[in-house]
Amino acid sequence: MPVPFNDLQRHYTSMESELNAAVQRVLIGGWYVLGPEVAAFEQAWAEWCGAQQCVSLANGTDALVLSLRALGVGPGDEVVTVANAGGYTSCATRLLGATPRYADVDAATLTLDPQQLAAQITPRTKAIVVVHLYGRVAAIEQIAALAAEHNVPLVEDCAQAHGARWNGQHVGTFGAIGCFSFYPTKNLGALGDGGAVITNSAELAERVRQLRTYGWSHKYAITLSGGSNSRLDALQAAILQVKLAHLQRQNERRQMIAERYAAGLGDLPLQLPAPAPAGAHVHHLYVVRVAVERRDALQAVLREQGVGTDVHYPIPDHRQPAWAADYRDVQLPVTEAAAQQVLSLPCYPELHDAEIDSVIAAVRRCYTI
Ligand SMILES: *Cc1c(COP(=O)(O)O)cnc(C)c1O
Repeated sequence: MPVPFNDLQRHYTSMESELNAAVQRVLIGGWYVLGPEVAAFEQAWAEWCGAQQCVSLANGTDALVLSLRALGVGPGDEVVTVANAGGYTSCATRLLGATPRYADVDAATLTLDPQQLAAQITPRTKAIVVVHLYGRVAAIEQIAALAAEHNVPLVEDCAQAHGARWNGQHVGTFGAIGCFSFYPTKNLGALGDGGAVITNSAELAERVRQLRTYGWSHKYAITLSGGSNSRLDALQAAILQVKLAHLQRQNERRQMIAERYAAGLGDLPLQLPAPAPAGAHVHHLYVVRVAVERRDALQAVLREQGVGTDVHYPIPDHRQPAWAADYRDVQLPVTEAAAQQVLSLPCYPELHDAEIDSVIAAVRRCYTI
């Protein structure tokens, strides 16, 4: 039985009638960009996260760009972040003419290492971006304390961590601003592109709100430079309202999948995700680490057995061809090793138990022959 790495058709059909009704409501309503559906979703998402403000946007990368811009990041500034999270923060930072500066990650969790972060903060640091990678809350208390100590604003990239909490507090509410993507495969995904920021600062929220519509303070009056068009559309907002009602259940299902993998693979010579406190990991991805010389072979053998896998991510930011020249002297040993070891197994709420078991069986076969 083939097991796809992801299956968005199943995801849609699991909520089909509700989604169809929401789409039809918007089509009939005649308001397609921003408007009441978008305002209703923003309010629902802010409430769900326990934040005072939510500003929805066109995608998660814009959430990073507009957050950094609203915090005043520009040419000559540095943004400290990790190099193992797919390059989104690096794209956003570079778009603003600022320079990403990388701190290595913790070997157990692959999230930002507070000690490495401390070593990279300079007088030019204008922001820190922590990524809750794969759905796991980073060492957020230490990182928020460091940011406060250095008086540098902290941005949380929560694009893989909708609903993750630390001591009951939602990601995105520990720093100045939290960024979300609603790309279809994320834990909370639209049926198209979408994004948002949450914050407890009315002032920051207002700046992002202006930046998403050309810098307007009101219609056709541009009072803030650097604006663009980054609006969420009403169809996606209505779809997100439907799907938000399922998020908790779907995150619980992801947790069960992770537990089933852990039970089925625990005795093999591969590194499973480190345990996390309850609620502190929402398993956006189930990422194992395989000996460097075996990773690609394992992926190929799984593919032959019909099991879809992926690598998140194969090229660290400081080794990306477009950027590597700026980082010849930079070494990030944990990040670089992990890029050659990580392998993501199928992990989505609609995955059946029998499919999880066939993934486990397929992996086990690779290690026993
Ligand atoms: C998906 C993702 C983003 C970007 O979101 P888009 O909506 O695709 O622009 C940013 N950061 C992380 C960690 C992501 O996984």
